[in-house]
Order: sequence, then structure tokens, then C-alpha cells
Amino acid sequence: MANSRQKYVVVGAGPVGSLAALYAAKRGYQVEIYELRSDLRDPSTTPLNFTKSINLALSERGINAMRHADHEKLLQHVFSATIPMRGRMIHGRRPDGALYEAAQDYDAHGRVRYNMSLHLCCLAMSRKSLTVEQTIYAVDRAGLNKRLLDILDDMPNVKFFFNHKLTGADFQKRKAWFERRDQTATSDRPAEIEIDFDLMIGADGAHSAVRYHLMKFTRMNYNQEYIDTLWCEFQIKSRNLPNSQSIESRFRISPNHLHIWPGKAFMFIAIPSDDGSFTCTLFMPGVNFATLEANPSELPAFFDSHFPGVTSLIKPEELISSFQANPHLPLISIKCKPYHFSSSVVIVGDAAHAMVPFYGQGMNAGLEDVRILFSILDKHASTESNDPNRPEVSDAAFQRATALNEYSTLRVADAHAINDLALQNYIEMRASVLSRLYRVRKFLEEFLSVHVPSLGWHTQYSRVSFGNERYSEVVARSQHQGKVLTRGLLHASDQAGFEAHLNPLGVCYYFFTMSSPFNPYAEQHRDPKGPEDERPTAFQVLEDNKLLQAWPDKIVLITGATSGIGIETTRAMYATGARVFILVRDTTKAQPIVANIINSTKGNGKIEIIEMDLDSLDSVKNAAQQFLQKSPKLNVLINNAGVMACPRTVTIDGFERQFAVNYLAHFTLTTLLLPTMLSSSSPTFNSRVIWVSSSGHRHANCKPDLDDLGILDHYDPWAAYGQSKTAMIWASNYIDRTYGERGVHSNAVHPGGILTNLSQYMSAEAIGAFTEDKEAMKQMKSIPQGAATQVWAASAPIWEGQGGKYLEDLKIAEPSSGVASKIGDGYAAHAYDPVNEEKFVEVESRTGQAREPLM
Ligand SMILES: Cc1cc2nc3c(=O)[nH]c(=O)nc-3n(C[C@H](O)[C@H](O)[C@H](O)COP(=O)(O)OP(=O)(O)OC[C@H]3O[C@@H](n4cnc5c(N)ncnc54)[C@H](O)[C@@H]3O)c2cc1C
Repeated sequence: MANSRQKYVVVGAGPVGSLAALYAAKRGYQVEIYELRSDLRDPSTTPLNFTKSINLALSERGINAMRHADHEKLLQHVFSATIPMRGRMIHGRRPDGALYEAAQDYDAHGRVRYNMSLHLCCLAMSRKSLTVEQTIYAVDRAGLNKRLLDILDDMPNVKFFFNHKLTGADFQKRKAWFERRDQTATSDRPAEIEIDFDLMIGADGAHSAVRYHLMKFTRMNYNQEYIDTLWCEFQIKSRNLPNSQSIESRFRISPNHLHIWPGKAFMFIAIPSDDGSFTCTLFMPGVNFATLEANPSELPAFFDSHFPGVTSLIKPEELISSFQANPHLPLISIKCKPYHFSSSVVIVGDAAHAMVPFYGQGMNAGLEDVRILFSILDKHASTESNDPNRPEVSDAAFQRATALNEYSTLRVADAHAINDLALQNYIEMRASVLSRLYRVRKFLEEFLSVHVPSLGWHTQYSRVSFGNERYSEVVARSQHQGKVLTRGLLHASDQAGFEAHLNPLGVCYYFFTMSSPFNPYAEQHRDPKGPEDERPTAFQVLEDNKLLQAWPDKIVLITGATSGIGIETTRAMYATGARVFILVRDTTKAQPIVANIINSTKGNGKIEIIEMDLDSLDSVKNAAQQFLQKSPKLNVLINNAGVMACPRTVTIDGFERQFAVNYLAHFTLTTLLLPTMLSSSSPTFNSRVIWVSSSGHRHANCKPDLDDLGILDHYDPWAAYGQSKTAMIWASNYIDRTYGERGVHSNAVHPGGILTNLSQYMSAEAIGAFTEDKEAMKQMKSIPQGAATQVWAASAPIWEGQGGKYLEDLKIAEPSSGVASKIGDGYAAHAYDPVNEEKFVEVESRTGQAREPLM
């Protein structure tokens, strides 16, 4: 087996390193694990192990990563010592002085409720084929770690090196140095060994030595932050009962909840252990620790005032002794990128993204890293290196380098997202769980999730903890959901004349009766009957969104405004009251069109014409310059012009024409206008770029070929069209990803089937055959209907601060059924491809005179 010749070295035998070693060993690599500390399973050295074991919340991402480890006993082994926690239990004191506890269950769907029973939990997991329940599991970190080490011990291709500390690494030469700490030193310096490796996986925690050495080989951006909160551990002891009594009866409070005593600036939590006790953690600002360190006797009174009821669970003297004996430890949040160098090293887990523990995701995210890393390594395992400039690079190294690059590109956004969420959740756990608005939002999200599942509403917490959706996607969806809910609350209060946040049922009624915000015309698209049926027009979209005459301060620029949906889009934008610029090849043809729009449409703005020939990049640059001389501001750019399936033609700049006109000219234009769009963006209206792409991107072979842009070598008009339309979607995704955070968002749009001048290169027979197909004709739209999706994307408030999507029929498109076809709904799998999108923009910018460099 080829893999058996490759050596994977894992640094750090914590939970993440151990799982990475298991994944590598399962693939047949020679695996060596180097760990600073002694074997934590060795009872004689346990007290020497510096890390205290802590109770963690294990959730779906961590479970899923173990599920994919391809080891039949792993999950069973781990679950034999977990306790399901089905929700939070909030503790407090009422105004009349009485203590209360209020359960907030995670599972809004009322699915399986586990009773506390260790074997039951394990049974439930296997009986239900390890399906996701909305439950998190309390697990002892050291226990989980030991179970992984036990499994690795049985694998012939795994070797452990405990008491070995990484002290140096050369990632060009693939060599590393470790201090051996297990031998009696014969000199002042411990002995050092040198090893070599094919891939080093750095899983050596927040203060990673691998990361430190990696920084010398790659230009790593690095940010670390200590928050002003320390933590200290306490214990709620189990009830002292005769041995005959069950474990369940030993717990002093519910074993199936994560207990929280929220204080405004402090928090105390308790997580069950399998001996009937609870491991508790106090989180508190450093200054309060200092005060109590100076006067520890005040601790019980402090607890009584901030965490009511705790002193009846932990004796005051035990509170004081734990506070004095246990360390007061800091919390660090680390963000860095990239995570790899070439084909030789990658960092995972806390080494890559240590986070504050308030989402219970640190270890879960680290375990997920391993699953994603190996799925990408597997994907590239059969790629061949055919780089004539670097014959020394072996296939395996080439595959790893490609995979590690993809991993870094993909994972950084997600790790940063969960780092940020973890910090935000601190605020939620401390204070928001008490707030009425928080509870109303949670209630609404859960209500909608249960009763209107088609809307896809879930709490952010449930998306993070009970799903495997990318963290960055979770954030995007939740932000949108939050905005819509807030609007809904306000709207409902308007409509119903009551304070919406005091009456969630009223708000639910409002949400119950409306379509999904990102699919507002679902009903009208259910049964299309052909052009001019009930599907909305661009004007209806404007009316529904109260946008007629609403934009006196906006500047809009549209290409291809003298035919088809371009005219209708111009008309709609003019009707918003915006000042509209159109870039057209034939200004003489444009003048009567503009006159007609102005005469027949109510609008206060202006329509100004600028000449631009998309066949020439010089003309595009001139047009951009002319526009910038006339306007210092640009809010909306609609890249609408296009050419479809034309005969093979090479533009004056040497590019295939469809690629040049549909994509390259528009990308050049967008790039030149980007600085102005960035400076025009405001918190209430982020700038928007709309790319009028097409379902044609689904035509077979239409992923752009980086070595043959425009496939000039073997020209096929439809494939070239498809490539150019995919390139537009990629450009849109790229712009949104790169500039979204800075206030320029971008979406790609399929307008639908419309018979316009775009079909001028189709033969009469092809058009005839199409128009005779009654079913196909039902899908067709009128021109005003065809302009609706791009006008929606350009103007509707729902798209504020949102982008990176491919839209059709006034909704976010779903994945296509997988059939490569230029017609039909949905996007092709290649439409979202961040790695190739980045490469594409890079390669394309190297094509020279295309445009000015990106910002
Ligand atoms: C109070 C608290 C509560 C938490 N709660 C949760 C929770 O509920 N859920 C959750 O998912 N996560 C939680 N976490 C986070 C979780 O503990 C970490 O994310 C997780 O342990 C990281 O695993 P790791 O394997 O990446 O790193 P670590 O567990 O830190 O392991 C790194 C290993 O590398 C070794 N090492 C270090 N330096 C070297 C070197 N130079 N050479 C060789 N070996 C080295 C170390 O000895 C260690 O064994 C919590 C963290 C804290 C502090």
C-alpha cells in the first residue's frame, strides 16, 4: 500500500491529535505521536500531568468526526461514559427571595429525551444509528482522551513517544527535533532526537510549538487575545448514599442539564460527572478574582448574592478551599491563517484556533478539523503531479500540498466564525438568557422550526451544536434570521397594535402567514403557465418592497440596457428614483429607449448614457473612467449585458468572445469601480453587485478551464457560454467573500427563460423546436418577469448585507438534481468552489492587460 511508505507525525496526544492519528493510521500511514507529557493512562504519573481533566460538552460535530473515523467501537467506547444534557437549567432567585430553576431544553422538536443512565445513553446511540438528537453530552476530557489512546495502542502502524517536547522543525527539509524528558539527564540539557516525516500534524494546543515554527516558513497572520475573565474549578459532590443506591439518585441537581447561574458580569456552571458529582466552573473578571483572593472568607456571601443556591450544594468551607487550591486560569482566543506550509505541515485543534469555552465547541471544532482535513486529503489522493517545472515533487507531496491549501482556504473562515461566536455566547450565557427579548427570539425560532420546518428556521445554538453546517454559514443564516425576526417584531407590533416582544404568539401568527423571506414568491412559482402568468414582474417586486420613488440618493449602473431585460431593469431602477447610468455600445440606439422609459415611467432621477463596447477592454476602462468623472458614488452595479452561443470569435484582446464579453469585461469593470463602491457603502445600504448569469452554467464541461480560458482550442458555443456564466458566478462569490465584510456584496442571478435578442445566434429550427415544446414554454417568462430576480437582488431590503448566492425565480437556488444540462432549476455542483474561484481570479489576473490589479 503506497500510504504505508509515508510517515505522518502527530505532535500532541490530546483529543484532537489522537483522533488525527487514528484517521492517519486507518489510511495505512506510518504514524508517530509525540507528546510532551507522560502517558495519561499511567497511574504512577497521573499526578505529574499538569492538565487538570475537565468536563466538556461533546456535541454533534465532535460525534460526527468520531463517527467518520471508521472505527466501529470508538463511539460506543466514548459514549459508555457520557451523560446526555438535554438543555440548560437556569438558576436564580425571585423577587420574593424564593430560589427557582428553569429548564430551557435544546430540542425544540420534542424528540428523544434520555433519562440519565449511562448504559441507556449508549444503547440509545446505537439503536438510533447514531442519529443527531438535540442533546449535548457531558464527557470527561481525560476519559475521552484515554479511550482514543487505547484504540491507537492496538494499531500496528502507530508508535507513541511520550515525554517528548517539540523544540525545532524545518518544514522545507521535513525534519524536526524533540527533547526527551523521560531520561535522567546526564548533562544540563535533556537529550534531543532528530526525526523526519512526510506530514506533520500540529495538535499541540493553544501554545503550539508547531505553530511557532510554522510561522518561520509561511507568512502567517496571527492574532491572540486574552479576555478579561479567569476560570476556576469547584465540585458539587455526589450524595453520600449506600452502594446499593443507583448513580442517578446521587446527583443533587438534574443530571440531564448544563446548569447555569448567570450573573451580569460573572457566570457559574455545573456539568455532571458519571460518579454523581458535578464539575463546576466559575468565570469572572480578573479584578473580582483579585478582590476575593485578598478576602477569601467573603466567597460564600459573594456566591449567595450572585449564584443563589450554590452554597446549599457546595459547603462554604469547600468553596473557599477549592478557590484557594485550584488555579485561576486565563482564557485565550487565537485566530491565525494559513494553517499549513506546502505539503509538510498543518495545524489543527487549539493549535490553530483556541477559543473561549462559551459555546462548548473548542474540542468539537478541533475534532471536526480532523474530519474535514482527511476528507480533503482523500479527495486529492489520486491527483497526479504533472508540473514540468518541479519534477522533484512526488505525486503524494503534490496531493498533500493541494489538499492542505484547500483545507486552509476552507477552514479559516469557519474557525474564525466559531471563535467569534464563542465570545458572543459568553455575553448570552451571562446576561441574555435572562432577557425577555432573548427568550422571545428563542421561542420564535423554535416555534418556527417546529411548526413551519419548510422555512428552515433554527436557533443559532442548534445549528452550531446539533448540525454539521459550516460555522461561517451558520453565522450568515443566523444574522439574516435575526434581522428578519427584528423586522417581524416591529412589523407585527405595527400591525397588531401591541408591543410585539410582549406577545410572541402574535408575532408567530405574522410569520406563520408569510412565505419564506428568501423565497417570497414561492406560491406564484409553483405552477408556471408561461409568460405573463402570476409570477411577479420587476415592478411588482418594487411595489411589494415599497421601493417606488424611495431611492433619491442612490446611483445605479447597468450594462446592456438597450435590449431585453436590460431595458426593463433600467426602467425599474429609474422608477426607484435613483440616478441611473447605462453603459451601451450604440448610444444612438440608446437615446430613444431612454426617452421612452422617461416618458412612460414615474421617476425623479436621471438616466445617463455612456458608451462602452464590451468586446474591448480598453473601451471598458474608458467607460469606467467616464463614469467616475461623472459620479463619485456607486451603490448598485448590474452586470447585465451578455452574448449567447455565438460562433467562435476572438476579441481584439485575444480572448474568446463569450468569455470576454460576459465575464472578463464585467470583471474588469467591477474591479475598476470597486473602490468607489466600497466608499459608497453605508451601514444602512451596503453596495451591491449583481451578475446576470444563467442556468446555462450547468451545461456539461462548463467549469472554466484555467489552461484554456474560453476553450478556444476545441470551441463549442454552448460550452463556452456555460464557462463564461460559471465564471460570472465565481466572480460574484469571490467579490462577496473578499469584499462583503467591507460593505460590497455580490449575487449571481439566473433571470429565467425569456425569448429576447439573446437568442440571435440560435438557429430558427432550434428556436422552433423549443417554442413547440408546450411544457418548456410554460417555464418561459415575459421580459418584465425576467427582470424581476435581478431587480429583487439589486434592491430588496432582504438582501441588505447579504450575498454570495446564486438566485433564480426570486429565491436562493437549490442544488440541481445533478444532471448536467443547460436548462432546469438549481445550481451545478461547480457553482460554489472557493478554491478554484480564488485560483481562477489569480490566473485570470495574470492574463495581463485584462484590468488593473485587484485592490
Ligand atoms: C474551562 C474550559 C472548558 C471547556 N469546555 C469545552 C466544551 O464544553 N466543549 C468543547 O468542545 N471544548 C471545550 N473546551 C476546549 C477544549 O478543552 C479544547 O478545545 C481541547 O482540549 C483542544 O484539544 P487539542 O487536542 O487541540 O489540544 P490540547 O487538549 O491542549 O492538547 C494538546 C496536547 O499537546 C501537547 N503538547 C503541547 N506542547 C507540546 C510540544 N511542544 N511537544 C509535544 N507535545 C506538546 C500537550 O501536552 C497536550 O497533550 C474547554 C476549555 C476550557 C479551558
